[in-house]
Amino acid sequence: MSEPRPVRLPHGGTLNCDTCRNDVFEEYRWKLQTTGLTFFNLDWANRDATCFVCTSCRRIHWFHL
Ligand SMILES: [Zn+2]
Repeated sequence: MSEPRPVRLPHGGTLNCDTCRNDVFEEYRWKLQTTGLTFFNLDWANRDATCFVCTSCRRIHWFHL
């Protein structure tokens, strides 16, 4: 976990919370590797997910980066 901060997206612009329009997020990196994903032929998903948690309403915004 890193210090809460504004998030700049790869395609440009900054991330705003879908729910409360806050622009400060905590960043997490979560592994998506599970045998369940392999069973469903989703090996392409075996990458890290980057998750930004809104510091205001706690909504999680997922990115597959
Ligand atoms: Zn929010």
